[in-house]
Amino acid sequence: MIFGGGDDSLPGTAGVHFKKHRPRFPFKHVNTGNVKDLVPVWSYSFGDNRGQESQPLVHEGIMYVTTHDSTHAIDAKTGLRVWTHKFEYPPATPRIVCCGIVNRGAAIYNGLLYRATLDAHVIALDMKTGKEVWKSQAINFKDGYSMTMAPLIANDVVITGISGGEYGIRGFIDGWDPKTGAHLWRRYTIAGPGEKGADTWPGDTYKHGGGPTWITGTYDPDLDLVYWGVGNGGPWNAEFRKGDNLYVGAVVALKPKTGEIAWHYQFSPNDPWDYDGVNENIIADVDIDGETKKVIIHADRNGFMYVVDRTNGKLLKANQFVDKLNWADGIDMKTGRPIESAITKKMRKEGAEVQVWPSALGGKNWFPMAYSPKTKMVYANTLEMGMNYKPVEPKFRKATFYLGIDFGKFQWLFPEDNQTGYLRAMDPLTGKTKWKVGSVAANWGGTMVTAGDVVFTGTFTGQFKAYDANSGKELWSFQTGSGIIGQPMTWEQDGQQYVSISVGIGGAYRNFIPVFGAKNTKLNAVIASVPEGGSVWTFAVK
Ligand code: CA
Repeated sequence: MIFGGGDDSLPGTAGVHFKKHRPRFPFKHVNTGNVKDLVPVWSYSFGDNRGQESQPLVHEGIMYVTTHDSTHAIDAKTGLRVWTHKFEYPPATPRIVCCGIVNRGAAIYNGLLYRATLDAHVIALDMKTGKEVWKSQAINFKDGYSMTMAPLIANDVVITGISGGEYGIRGFIDGWDPKTGAHLWRRYTIAGPGEKGADTWPGDTYKHGGGPTWITGTYDPDLDLVYWGVGNGGPWNAEFRKGDNLYVGAVVALKPKTGEIAWHYQFSPNDPWDYDGVNENIIADVDIDGETKKVIIHADRNGFMYVVDRTNGKLLKANQFVDKLNWADGIDMKTGRPIESAITKKMRKEGAEVQVWPSALGGKNWFPMAYSPKTKMVYANTLEMGMNYKPVEPKFRKATFYLGIDFGKFQWLFPEDNQTGYLRAMDPLTGKTKWKVGSVAANWGGTMVTAGDVVFTGTFTGQFKAYDANSGKELWSFQTGSGIIGQPMTWEQDGQQYVSISVGIGGAYRNFIPVFGAKNTKLNAVIASVPEGGSVWTFAVK
C-alpha cells in the first residue's frame, strides 16, 4: 500500500514504504511548467503552538496527521475535520525530550492508525472513528526514554524506535502485533552481555550506552529487511566507552518478524561528536561501474554520503557532501572506517578543546531527503556549522543530560557568509553538489521530488517552495504563516495532484541556536521573527 507519497512522489521516509517509481503523471499534474500556478486549496489549524514535523498520510480521501498530543483525520478535498483524537502525557514528560516537543507522523495498516507518544507508548486508533483500539507501553519514560518517530509497518509487524540518546538510555527497536499491541520482540541497539558486539563496550558502559533510534526505518519487502539508523553513544565523551560501541552511529538491517540483525554498517565507530547516525536510509537501485546494485543511500550527520549494498551491508561509496569537514580525512574504502583527522586524535588523546566541523547538529539533521530515479540525484537540506567542543568527565544521573562536555565552552561556529544551511542537489555516488540554495536560517524540514521534476521543501521562515530538480531554479513560493519543519507529501485524487505540508516552528535548531550561538545576532533575529502556530496546508494547480 502507498501512503503519504502517491506512486510518483519520492519522499525519504515517514513510517511507510513506497512502491517502485512508476512515472505516470499526465500533462495536468504538477510539473516544472505549471507549478507556478499552485494555489492553496485549504488550511487546517491544529490549535497547537508546538513544532510540527509530521508527514501527513492520505488514504481513501482522508488525510491523517499527528501533533505531539493529537491525531487528526481530515477530509483531504475540503480540509474539514473528520475526527480528532487527543491524549495527555504526564506533565514531567517534556523534561526528558532534548530537542523539541514533536511527533513525526503515523503509519496505517488494515484499518488502524499507529502512532507513538512522548511518554513512550504506542497507540492504535480505528481509522474510521479515531477510537483507541490498543495502547502499549514501550518503556518507562521516567528513565529518560521518549518517542517522536513514526512507526513502520513491515511484514505484518508494527516497528518502533526510541529517543533519549542524551539521557543515558540503552536504545532499542521494538516489534508489535498490529492487531493486539502485544510486544513481539526487542532488539537492543547497544550490545550487552551475551550479544554479538558486547566486547565493543567496556565493563557495564552498555547500560547507558545511548544508541537511540528516533528516525523511522525503511523496509525492502523483496529482501524482507528493515534498515534502521542508530544514534549517538552515551555519554558523548567517548573516552568513557572505549571501543567501537556497536551499534552506535550505524545502520542495522533487521528481519521484521524477529528483530534479528542480518548485517550492520557503522558510519562512526566510537563517535565522540554526537554524529547520531539515525538519518533515513533511502532504498534505490543504482548503476555502479556498469552494474545495477540494490543500495541504501544515507547522508550522515558526520558529513559523509554513503551508498551501501542493502543485501549485505558492504560499503560501495562514501564521500564528503558538506563544504567544511575536519573530523576525518576520508573514509577507508577497504575497511569502511573513517580516517580520523589530527583534530580528532588530539581531542581523544589530550581531552583538548577543539573546533570541529560539522557540529553536533550534523551535516544533515533528521529531515528526510529525497531521491529521484529520473535525475539520479538526492535533494537534501544540509547544514554548514561547526562547534567549539571540550570533553569533560560525565556524571550519570537518571533522566538528565549525560554528555560529558563542558557547556561553558560549547559554542556553534558559523561560516563567514553566515549561510548555515543549503538545499542541495547531489550525486549520491560522489557526494558532489549539482546546485544549492543557501539561507541564513537553515531549512529544518524534509524534501520531496516528483516525477514532474519538482523539488518541494519549506524554509524556517515559513515559505513553502518549489524548485526545478535539474537546475535549482526557484519556481514557486508561498508564505504559510509559521516556520516549516515538516515533511512535504503529495497524492492524487479524482485526477488531481495535491501537495501538502505541516507547518509550525519548533525543534532542535530553534531551541539550541539561541542558547549556544548568541553571538550570531542576525541568525537569532531571523529565528525570533517567526511566529508560532501549527497547521497543515494543501495546494493544487486549479
Ligand atoms: Ca543525539
